[in-house]
Amino acid sequence: MSMDYYAVLGVERSASAEEIKKAYRRMAMKVHPDVAPGPEAAEKFKQISEAYEILSNPDKRALYDRGGDPRMAGAGFGRGGGFGGFGGGFTGGTAGFDFGDLIDAMFTGQTGPRGPRSRVRRGQDSAVPMTLDLAEAAFGTTVETTIDTAVRCATCEGQGTQPGTRPERCNTCRGAGEITQMQRIGIAGIRTSQPCPNCRGFGVTIPHPCVECDGEGRVRQTETLQVKIPAGLEDGVMIHLPGRGEVGPGGGEPGDIYVKIAVRPHADFRRDGNNLELVVPIPMTAAALGTRVDVPTLEADLVASGREDFADAETTVEVEVPPGTQSGTRIALPNRGIPRRRGRGRGELGVTFLVQTPTRLTKEQRELLEQLAAERDETRVEVRGGAGRGMFGRWKDRLAGQ
Ligand SMILES: [Zn+2]
Ligand SMILES: [Zn+2]
Repeated sequence: MSMDYYAVLGVERSASAEEIKKAYRRMAMKVHPDVAPGPEAAEKFKQISEAYEILSNPDKRALYDRGGDPRMAGAGFGRGGGFGGFGGGFTGGTAGFDFGDLIDAMFTGQTGPRGPRSRVRRGQDSAVPMTLDLAEAAFGTTVETTIDTAVRCATCEGQGTQPGTRPERCNTCRGAGEITQMQRIGIAGIRTSQPCPNCRGFGVTIPHPCVECDGEGRVRQTETLQVKIPAGLEDGVMIHLPGRGEVGPGGGEPGDIYVKIAVRPHADFRRDGNNLELVVPIPMTAAALGTRVDVPTLEADLVASGREDFADAETTVEVEVPPGTQSGTRIALPNRGIPRRRGRGRGELGVTFLVQTPTRLTKEQRELLEQLAAERDETRVEVRGGAGRGMFGRWKDRLAGQ
């Protein structure tokens, strides 16, 4: 009678196929000759491999359970896949293979790619950074930029072969694209495959490559890319241009382009969602007496840059400053902000007044102000309400609101 295969793998006699497989894999990782040198581990590895060979085969396991010796059973019990092919064409050693892959290969019977791979592949996606002014991003524009890309080779039409010649079947792998090796691990034989080094896995070679593209089927080229920028774009947005990227190897279908938008900060306007915010300094006297001011529009930038579609746009808008306007007062001008990307209309333009206190006074101006102060009984200011918090707090809030 042979050894107790169940004990060797440390599983119950009732163990499922899955449990047996797990137990074997766990032990094989520990005692495989690659990780555990020495005769003891080698002997153990031989034992678990034999136990697994028998118990993983339902027929052999049934025979073993009945007291028979499946090793004597002869032909008819050959396992398909990775454990098949005993006795022919083994190569020694496991050099060049990852051990984990090797163990996995014992279960799947296969490593690496299957069959020749296609020479034609899709082109890579590429990212194109683009910086816009606030007005361009707000109202939309069309930007032309040059990109370094790859286009299908016109000489060979992407085939990679010199016109009039054809690819030939690879002699090394006979067109399979892969080299198969048989290996013996304990009693198990496994088959591993690697891409053919001669044809790089394509199964064919190009004896007369196209001189224009050196057999690549594509050539590098600088191209002009036109990007349509819709209105209302925000900083950081990506514009996806499917199929506008570089052609793949072998003239394969082009990849995509992602245009990443950055919006340059504006000297005057600040964007807040779909609103624009503008701070407008006004003289102290204007704030007290009231006036009208012309504030710039964002469209003015496009008018200044000569955009024909904005030739008739208003470059300023008149805003009323009511008498007694406090510093920090905000006035909202509806529909003067950023066009909404989804939906209609535009956000508002918020104008915040910053009252400017004069810092340099002539003798006459000083006398006038002193006269005004005396008239208003303001020559000496008293902080009322005791706790300055209320009064100063309001001021702080107002300044923060700008
Ligand atoms: Zn070519
Ligand atoms: Zn080959």
